[in-house]
Amino acid sequence: MREGLLELFQETHRELRPAVPIPELKIEFFAFANVNNTIRLRQGRLLVRLSDLLEGAPEAVLRAIAHILLAKMYRRPIDRGHAARYRKYLASHEIVRKTHLVRQMRGRKHLLSARGHFYDLDSIFEDLNTRFFHGLMARPHMSWSKSKTRRILGHYDPAHNAIIISRVFDHVAMPRYVLEYIVYHEMLHLKHPVKLRGSRRCVHSAEFQAEEKLFPRVAEANAFLKRL
Ligand SMILES: [Zn+2]
Repeated sequence: MREGLLELFQETHRELRPAVPIPELKIEFFAFANVNNTIRLRQGRLLVRLSDLLEGAPEAVLRAIAHILLAKMYRRPIDRGHAARYRKYLASHEIVRKTHLVRQMRGRKHLLSARGHFYDLDSIFEDLNTRFFHGLMARPHMSWSKSKTRRILGHYDPAHNAIIISRVFDHVAMPRYVLEYIVYHEMLHLKHPVKLRGSRRCVHSAEFQAEEKLFPRVAEANAFLKRL
C-alpha cells in the first residue's frame, strides 16, 4: 500500500470526528475498472476500497477522496473544495481510464456505441453519477443494444463491465427521465453486487430496492414502462 495513505485517512477522520477514537483502518486498491471507491464499517473496522486509477494520484486528490468517503460514511456535508478537486482529477484522467477499459475489453465480445440518435449514454451516466453518487462511480462501458428489445430493457454485465440499454429508449418520444431511471437501476447493480444467500442469488437486495426508490420520478417512470 502507498505510504502515508493510512495516515491521511486517519488525519481526515480526526478532522471530521475529533472526539471519536479512530477505528482500525484497512485500505486496499482494486485493479478493476468497475470497482468504485467504497467505505464500510465492519465490526468496528473501516474497510476502504479505492480504484487503482487513484494509485498514482497526488496527495491532495487522495485527501479529497478520504474526505468524501468519510463524510459520506458519517453523513457529514461534503466540502466543495474537496469535491471539485476529485472531479477535476477524474476528468483529467479520463484518457487513462479509457485506455484501461480498452485493455479490458480487448479480445472480448463486441460492444456497440454509447452514442445513439437521440441520447448519449455516457453523458446520461455522468449526469446521474453527479446527482446520485457524488460522482464516485467509475463509468463502465455504456452501450445501446443491437435491437429494439422490449424483453430486456437494460442489464449490467459484470464480466465485461458494461451496461447495455435497449435501443427502444433511444427515441425522440422517449422522456429523458424514463431512460435515466433504467440507467439508474443498472448503476445500482454496479453499486450492489449480487450476493449469494445460501444457494439463492439475491439480485435486488433490500438496500438496492430502498435506494431505487430514491429516484425522484420512480412511480411515473414505472407507469410509463408499463405502457411501453
Ligand atoms: Zn435489476
